[in-house]
Amino acid sequence: MTHVFYRQLTRDYPSAVLGRGITIRDATGKEYIDASGGAAVSCLGHSNPDVLAALHAQIDKLDYAHTGFFTTPAAEELADEMIRHAPAGIGHVYFTSGGSEAVEAALKLARQYFVERGELQRQHFIGRLQGYHGNTLGALSVGGNLWRRKPFAPILLENVHHVSPCYEYRGRRIDETPQRYGERLAQELSNKIDELGGGNVIAFIAETMVGATLGAVPAVPGYFKRVREICDRHGILLILDEVMCGMGRTGTLHACEQEGVTPDLLVVAKGLGGGYAPIGALMVQEKIVKTLTEGSGFFQHGHTYMGHPLACAAALAVQRVIQRDNLLTNVKAQGDHLLRRLGERFGNHPFVGDVRGRGLFQAIELVADRGTKEPFDPARKLNVRIKQEAMDRGLMVYPMGGTVDGVRGDHVLLAPPFIVDAATIDTVVERLGEAVDAAIAATGK
Ligand code: PMP
Repeated sequence: MTHVFYRQLTRDYPSAVLGRGITIRDATGKEYIDASGGAAVSCLGHSNPDVLAALHAQIDKLDYAHTGFFTTPAAEELADEMIRHAPAGIGHVYFTSGGSEAVEAALKLARQYFVERGELQRQHFIGRLQGYHGNTLGALSVGGNLWRRKPFAPILLENVHHVSPCYEYRGRRIDETPQRYGERLAQELSNKIDELGGGNVIAFIAETMVGATLGAVPAVPGYFKRVREICDRHGILLILDEVMCGMGRTGTLHACEQEGVTPDLLVVAKGLGGGYAPIGALMVQEKIVKTLTEGSGFFQHGHTYMGHPLACAAALAVQRVIQRDNLLTNVKAQGDHLLRRLGERFGNHPFVGDVRGRGLFQAIELVADRGTKEPFDPARKLNVRIKQEAMDRGLMVYPMGGTVDGVRGDHVLLAPPFIVDAATIDTVVERLGEAVDAAIAATGK
């Protein structure tokens, strides 16, 4: 083991030395197609000349200025660009260095909003089981991934409650329409709110499309509209976490556009900076910032690197390239192609139960039995093996699995850069098919 450590302590990582377009090269010269954009990050691929030029231009002018003293043109212009394309009502942006930080800011801003309004009794958050909002303690608390939470359970936030996710493949009963299923889940949320007292809840937080934990799972039609109504009825804020599914990945700039709802707080990150710099953002409705502005005039929060000029300049360039090159059209077209190819390769696969997603955010779910939907035994560590088999074949995909909560199985997430073409997608699906088959064969008894 080297002096650096990451998640896996017992394995050696290949060393990435060069990124060009959709590929990453390691120190041995081996090339990998980046079909997951890392973890749904690299939306423009690697070494985009416009982004590099923007970074160079920024560092020539100003490396860093603390936000306790200054704002910067980079932060202002990025915020302007984001608001220009934001859902109506969202009028302000708060920058962070990543997704978890942006979720923490959302939780604290939501609470402070009610403190300023004198609603001190609002002390509860509601999240969803199997949701993921980050690994910092607040974000982990509102998340519902039991495996990630388990070792830290005694030190998580106390006033957090969870309801079922909208997970049609496993959650919808055979005798239920998708619409009825969505209504049942909304009712579960409503019941939870009644149990806590509607006036005691700060916010409900959900991923618009569930990413890391379940794998590219969209809600059924109408679900989020009902959720929005329920929150409004009780004055509860709606926080949508689009760290993974946002900033164009599903074919619209914000995934919530496809649901026809606007959250009070919208969290974005990964695709915002496309990996060129660590940056996340909290996009906020006018009414919330107005309440603080007219109240204490102070948001009791902050980080040293928030609004970092280099990060903002990189993100601004990424967002301008996406608009200039009309890349969301490619996301939709190649997304359709990817879904079709995945369907052809895995639609009748004996160990693939579901193929799903929107835009360039798609996944296959692996099952030991298609009929019963029984997941593979987590002890098999199928996800670890799939990742390795894919890497051996020069392919980066994002497999997850190893459930301990008895519900979740293994899935493989694909999130290629928005510049991907059909031929590359064909290669990705071919290599993925081989990797999945090899991993199942290798881990079987
Ligand atoms: N929310 C969601 C939906 C995410 O997918 C992630 C990261 N996978 C986070 C929050 C946390 O973001 P970060 O890793 O940048 O802290």
